Amino acid sequence: MDLPTYEGWQKLAENFEHQTGSFVGGEYVGSISDRTYETINPATEKVTANISACDQLDVDMAVKAARDAFKSGSWSRMAPRERGVILQTLAELVSKNANELALMETINMGKPIMEARMADINLSAQCLKWYGEAIDKLTDEIIATPDNVRATITREPMGVVAAVIPWNFPLLMACWKIAPALAAGNSVIVKPSEQTPQSILKLAELAIAAGIPEGVFNVITGVGEVVGAAIGRHMDIDCLTFTGSTAVGKKFLEYSGQSNMKTVWLECGGKNPNIVMADCPNMEKAAMNAAMNVFFNQGEVCASASRLLVEESIRDEFLEKIIAIGQTRIPGDPLNPATNMGAIVDRSQFDRINGYIAIGQKEGAELVLGGDTSKVDGKGLYVNPTIFKNVKNDMTIAREEIFGPVLSAISFTDIDEAVAIANDSLYGLSAAIWTSDINIAHKTARNLEAGAVSINSYSSIDIALPFGGYKQSGIGVDKSLHAIEKYTNMKSTWLELD
Ligand code: NAD
Repeated sequence: MDLPTYEGWQKLAENFEHQTGSFVGGEYVGSISDRTYETINPATEKVTANISACDQLDVDMAVKAARDAFKSGSWSRMAPRERGVILQTLAELVSKNANELALMETINMGKPIMEARMADINLSAQCLKWYGEAIDKLTDEIIATPDNVRATITREPMGVVAAVIPWNFPLLMACWKIAPALAAGNSVIVKPSEQTPQSILKLAELAIAAGIPEGVFNVITGVGEVVGAAIGRHMDIDCLTFTGSTAVGKKFLEYSGQSNMKTVWLECGGKNPNIVMADCPNMEKAAMNAAMNVFFNQGEVCASASRLLVEESIRDEFLEKIIAIGQTRIPGDPLNPATNMGAIVDRSQFDRINGYIAIGQKEGAELVLGGDTSKVDGKGLYVNPTIFKNVKNDMTIAREEIFGPVLSAISFTDIDEAVAIANDSLYGLSAAIWTSDINIAHKTARNLEAGAVSINSYSSIDIALPFGGYKQSGIGVDKSLHAIEKYTNMKSTWLELD
């Protein structure tokens, strides 16, 4: 597919028609109350659309549509191979509509258009295709029994799965949940983040075009405290799968206990350690990875390499390399294909990041890059790449998730100290170790308390690998075949023969 020029993207953005409703039972619908809220483009701070602010009644309607579709068997009892073919068709439709979908992410969220186009949308299509291809390759189990017995262990779809999604990779985070849940035969209800509903609404529309029956894929827009809570507490939702902050993730555990004990899967925050030893085999690659993985997507990444643990003897030399790379990430119009540093999603996140930068300075960390903000053509919410050195692991900027382009560099003198610092966190999402010593590499990978560890690289995004957190980074995994298990119930069947 041809990629538009800067002018082309600008023109597409000017003429872009935003959806305003939810998507229930195969069509767009407004909220029952007719209430709306505004979405704002963070690169211009202008209102882009008035979106339905749904509430309990709208959620009830979506759950009924999803439950009816599930009970009808139109999807839940379709042969897995047929479901898989439809998911692969949906993947093709995502690819065909990639420019439009990328534009939606950029307008809603401020990320650079080429990152949206090449990362978010391509990976979303790949995810749908992968689960579509996988679902008819799975088998159930028959156990060893006496001659007169046949006993099976089978996996069945759970029923209605609700997915609550953040704003940082709107379509991709939704696909990580929707693809395995749909592949397993469930009906789904998706609640996008307030800021970023467009691409998920479009996906629901494409799902109908691909052949997913009406009512199987629903989207409910609205404010988290209202519609998210109504979903969390709903008595007829079987499973809740969430990506977002640890604080809100904990609320979903409460909602489940207050309602029907629905299964809850959580993908939450991270404060990820990236350990660089003095014998790092490729300092240039390590510096590039360290910088890219804290500045990519404006640092609004759960697996961001936000804590750099660098061996004292190479600290200054290594930091200089990262600073040099950081200086090449200059805020620009997210619609410009040359831009590699976009806008921060909204004003509250912008203020939050700047608040953390102020705290870092107050607590005695040394600012060696950035720490300030920019405007592009006199507007927009941009934070410049920021690096702190002399950070201590008990400082706020080493403990709390900033979710912005801010690197906290901590030095250490030996690997035991590095691992102790790395694990001294309430999070455990991802981690990395850079060394030429194979023994240290393996031992450290084992000793790090994180769901994903990289050696001499940072953060694999391969769809076949599970992604999930230890400790307060979450419960369960996205991606890989293991994600399908999350959306199934396990049934034992014992048959005694005459
Ligand atoms: P958030 O927790 O503020 O919101 C996530 C979702 O929850 C949104 O849809 C929101 O509307 C909803 N919500 C908010 N308050 C709610 C409430 N009281 N009850 C019910 N629902 C509510 O997160 P965010 O700011 O959208 O995203 C950033 C966070 O997401 C970061 O903490 C980041 O680490 C995390 N994240 C994690 C992963 C992962 O895979 N582990 C991936 C991406 C983002």
